[in-house]
Amino acid sequence: MNTAYALKNVNLIHGDSSRNLQKNMTILVNEQGLIQTIGQDNELLIPSHYTTIDLSGKYVMPGLINAHVHLFADGKPFSLSVSEGMLQFAYDRILNTKFGRNVLKKRMKRNALTALHAGVTTMRSVGEFFYTDVQLRDEINNGDFVGPNLLVSGFFLSVTGGHGAPFLALVGDSPWEARRNVRINVKHGVDLIKICVTGGVTDAKMVGEAGRLQMTVDEVAAICDEAHKIGLRVAAHVESTEGVRVALQGGVDTIEHGSEMDDEIIRLYKNNPNALNGYTALIPTLQAAYPSASLDTSVTKVSATVKENSRLVYDSMLKGVKQAIENDITIGIGTDAAMPYVTHYDMWREMDHYMRQANLNNKQVIDMVTRTNAKILGVEDVTGTVDIGKHADLIIMKQNPLEHIEALSDVSMVMVKGNLIQTPSVTRIKEVDDVLNSVW
Ligand SMILES: [Zn+2]
Repeated sequence: MNTAYALKNVNLIHGDSSRNLQKNMTILVNEQGLIQTIGQDNELLIPSHYTTIDLSGKYVMPGLINAHVHLFADGKPFSLSVSEGMLQFAYDRILNTKFGRNVLKKRMKRNALTALHAGVTTMRSVGEFFYTDVQLRDEINNGDFVGPNLLVSGFFLSVTGGHGAPFLALVGDSPWEARRNVRINVKHGVDLIKICVTGGVTDAKMVGEAGRLQMTVDEVAAICDEAHKIGLRVAAHVESTEGVRVALQGGVDTIEHGSEMDDEIIRLYKNNPNALNGYTALIPTLQAAYPSASLDTSVTKVSATVKENSRLVYDSMLKGVKQAIENDITIGIGTDAAMPYVTHYDMWREMDHYMRQANLNNKQVIDMVTRTNAKILGVEDVTGTVDIGKHADLIIMKQNPLEHIEALSDVSMVMVKGNLIQTPSVTRIKEVDDVLNSVW
């Protein structure tokens, strides 16, 4: 049982872009952590046992939803150019030991809490080691500690030599092996399936090679069929146009990263009979590609090949974003937190990126990161807007994010499922913040 709260004198932002800001509102949150009533301050009676929090002059909106994160790292830059032998050694001797797994779990928990304290009340984690993400989700849901709502994928599904293989992925080389890998992840309790349809910037050895096709339509279709029959969504890592086509034809529910589109691809996004809901959504991750693409290699320490591939992927991804907006394709927001220069805090940077590069306004990006993301992830019944009966997943700010999107970088309080964090604390990574602040 939680404390029941009355949040008073609230400037309320709904998340849903069709509704306007409402002033002088009171929100009642019951002992179950649900939004019980919303009304004008002077019309609402506050039950005597409710703890009243006066939020005069403050702004309340739904908690942020990050649709694409990894919990295993925090966004500090790391070198991507280590040999396979080194990786194998690090995996065998460090990560995959009792000690290594303990360190990993602590780090993942810390990253999830950093995100929560920065206002991210729901995270979709899309690729982790050893089902540690499943353990953390269960501990949070059991009430062992107050954490964000987690949707978790466990290991990637990939092909031999594919993206994330062999350490971060279950490998399969036929539709039936791919189905077996879905079943293994399901047995471990995942909420969704993450697949790698193409390679990525990190594995490309030559310029132009990032986004090379790895899975076949038959493999993708088998995975989607196996996942969809028990109601699980499939998220696909894709970094090229041909990869997007294969993923859409196979019936995935979200394209992660994405690429430039042609007419067939636009049609398939909007009307995809093989996807769980009849359409496929796009989750670009501009902030993940942008630093490597735009900063000098003396800062990022990446090779010239990685920089050039990042630029190609970023340019194509941005074209895809603009086409998605023009063609009314459902588009959500994820950051790829854990990648170099992508922290678990400061989601506003990704939103700011859309505003600058794709001419969206504050209201639109706030809708994307709350209501739309909830719908894409299939959690719109419980979170994503401030509505009666939903979980009280809320953030409170001094400044109005409808006027300054950067208001989201300074969250004064966070509530997740009715648990109030009155003085959130975020440990920032100065070296990363400084570099990102210098980019624009
Ligand atoms: Zn990712």
